[in-house]
Amino acid sequence: MTPTILVVEDEPAIQELVAINLKHAGFLVVRASSGEEAESAIRAALPDLIILDWMLPGQSGLSLAKKVRMGERTRELPIIMLTARVHEEDKILGLEAGADDYVSKPFSPKELVARVRAVLRRRAPHLAGDAVEIGNLSLNPSTHRVTAAGQPVDLGPTEFRLLFFFMTHPERVYTRSQLLDEVWGDHVFIEERTVDVHIRRLRAALEATNHHERIETVRGTGYRFRGA
Ligand code: CA
Repeated sequence: MTPTILVVEDEPAIQELVAINLKHAGFLVVRASSGEEAESAIRAALPDLIILDWMLPGQSGLSLAKKVRMGERTRELPIIMLTARVHEEDKILGLEAGADDYVSKPFSPKELVARVRAVLRRRAPHLAGDAVEIGNLSLNPSTHRVTAAGQPVDLGPTEFRLLFFFMTHPERVYTRSQLLDEVWGDHVFIEERTVDVHIRRLRAALEATNHHERIETVRGTGYRFRGA
């Protein structure tokens, strides 16, 4: 699974520098030049991490960071603040607003990429590409292979992403709308009952090894994946 990074930076040269280096490092990049553009990009599809310039025209990066932290859909999004400010108190303000890390301009693109990887490893270990295992159910995001008790499980691409999300977020209840956001990435054009269709297919694929019992329907709420 390739992580998507949203780069919010109004200076075209810096936006380009950051975007190119992230692409070379294997990330998908979405760009925004203002807080407003960033908000509309986030509404369209949740990124996996935001690189956020502090000084933006209109809404400041700091204010956007606070909004992201307060939003139910976005509160867990990792944020790296990018800024020309060097004062210690600014750094503290940025971290208090919910930034996970802080990079001062001028910065080395290599260092920025290293910080992105470090934040993702800490905040979203499932994006690191390692195989996930629960019981004898194993999913490898790099090879796109799923096995149960050593036998291959054949899944469609959506069921694969759904299972990957469940296995990396066990024991928590997710609404259909949250699942659409997390698994489909864009909740605007898909009906919630689509989730039920794919849950049914995923359960059917896991039934032979009884792992379908891990997918619990939580009445009136959504679904939970049992990790134990
Ligand atoms: Ca700026």
